[in-house]
Amino acid sequence: MIIDVATLFPEMCESYLSESVIGRARSKGIFEVKCHQIREYTADKHRRVDDTPYSERQGMLMQAEPIYQCYKAVTSGRGAKPWTIYMSPRGRRLTQDRCRELSELPYMFVLCGHYEGVDQRVIDEIADEEISIGDYVLTGGELPALVLIDSVVRMLDGVLARSDCYEDESHFNGLLEYPQYTRPEEWHGVKVPEVLLSGHHANIQKWRREQSLLATARQRPDLLAEAKLSEQDLEFLRIAKQSGEL
Ligand code: SAM
Repeated sequence: MIIDVATLFPEMCESYLSESVIGRARSKGIFEVKCHQIREYTADKHRRVDDTPYSERQGMLMQAEPIYQCYKAVTSGRGAKPWTIYMSPRGRRLTQDRCRELSELPYMFVLCGHYEGVDQRVIDEIADEEISIGDYVLTGGELPALVLIDSVVRMLDGVLARSDCYEDESHFNGLLEYPQYTRPEEWHGVKVPEVLLSGHHANIQKWRREQSLLATARQRPDLLAEAKLSEQDLEFLRIAKQSGEL
């Protein structure tokens, strides 16, 4: 997968994308990401890329032309048409399912807005999709772009040790993750659940599923309503409710 990011703060993005799991995957060539400075594509001699909005609103808007020139130069250099995403609080909220779909794309171009946002005409011209990372407003699209890239590329083959690293996680199958424990066996007087020490694979699988169901019912009952549940799951939840566990 190739990812191009158009931003006013390429160093901010580069720094995150060079570290830890994502940085290692990038060095191994599992994906390629390049952060482009939009200011390099303005004709303004002071490298300005913003101006006042026509709507009489306070603040500044990013102009269409530098973004468009950046998009054209970068994508024609690649010789391919990307799936173009504008990070925006007005976009569709990012979900694990959407991340999985995006991880199958060969090439994404991600536009980060700043100030009061971006002239609508360039969004209409180049963007295939607007994505929001949540119902709140940040000062710029860099953090949202990094959230998007991180959550997409960690599903590429070879980024995590095994695919069950993410398949077992919260949201992958519509449920939240079960609680996890590591050494020591006892900490502050609290022991690791007995079943996890038993080495009994089937019982551990059953415990994980039940704990996922409980965590989801307690913390995100909205997810439970959408999740694919078996008769056994429903029966477990009925009993948990009756016994006061829920
Ligand atoms: N005036 C815009 C509005 O009300 O929708 C918000 C502009 S925001 C201050 C500046 C930039 O940050 C946006 O252009 C967008 O790229 C990014 N941004 C802010 N919040 C975001 C969110 N929740 N999801 C994705 N991008 C966001």
